Amino acid sequence: MKRKRFNYSLILIFLFTVGLVIIDTILTEEASGHYPFIWSLSLIPIILITNKYPKWKVIIGSGIFYSILKYTTEFSQKINPDNSEISALILGSFINWSITLTFGYYIIKSYKLLLKVEELTITDSLTGIYNRRYLELFMEKTIPISKRTNSSLVFMLLDIDHFKKVNDDYGHQCGDEALKHTSSIINKNIRNSDAFVRFGGEEFAVILPNTDVAEALIIAERIREAVEKSEFIYKNERIHFTISIGVSFYNGGTVEEFIERSDIALYKAKENGRNQIAIIK
Ligand code: GH3
Ligand code: MG
Ligand code: MG
Repeated sequence: MKRKRFNYSLILIFLFTVGLVIIDTILTEEASGHYPFIWSLSLIPIILITNKYPKWKVIIGSGIFYSILKYTTEFSQKINPDNSEISALILGSFINWSITLTFGYYIIKSYKLLLKVEELTITDSLTGIYNRRYLELFMEKTIPISKRTNSSLVFMLLDIDHFKKVNDDYGHQCGDEALKHTSSIINKNIRNSDAFVRFGGEEFAVILPNTDVAEALIIAERIREAVEKSEFIYKNERIHFTISIGVSFYNGGTVEEFIERSDIALYKAKENGRNQIAIIK
């Protein structure tokens, strides 16, 4: 079990908020004057909050919260501040809001960029489906669940038969289109809870949680048949191809052993004549 990380930024936000009110009160009493610039320190908790929840609603909300805190603290100490004090307060707010909105804009922008980069690192650029990196992440998450709940987990390896011939006969561009076509067919024949990735060149993998032998065979056969019967047309020519599928079930070993067993099953399907499914229980 992973240990929950202690949330230091929440403590810091709390300390800064309480600290600001105390410092402002002490300064006003001890030094008998107003020091509204001290509220520029509220930018620190706002940055911490924004960093944790990079959303405009949160940024504006925390800006308003610290503005209210500043004005109530200031006015609770001096009921009738003079004009210069009020001007200093308003000018301070103007500066703080300008800084808050500027860094808010850049934090949100870089957060969106980060999400996009994260998405790209787990996506296959040709087919648009997930890649092998995603498979690793999915396995890391799914295997402990499968162990804990004692539920079955299926790993399917799907490989296009004689794909080299498609490339050789019709060109690499056609091969690429055939890969996109195949991935979209597989995608249509699996469930939302299944993970589907491009495993390598012309190999795909589907991981099916909570799936028994009978269900796995039905799904594999449905995919195999859908590819065999599909109409793949390239430059007005119908190109026919099939896939072989290796299926294995998780038996408590390592991820590598699990994948290896599907690979052995796939090899068997190829040896037995291709366009078929082989299973290792
Ligand atoms: P088998 O039935 O035994 O799987 O035969 P195969 O020809 O499919 O297998 P082989 O491993 O000999 O060839 C795979 C081919 O897949 C060779 C490679 O050029 C092609 N390939 C791999 N990635 C891509 C790709 O992204 N685009 C294209 N067009 N071809 C690719
Ligand atoms: Mg192949
Ligand atoms: Mg292959």
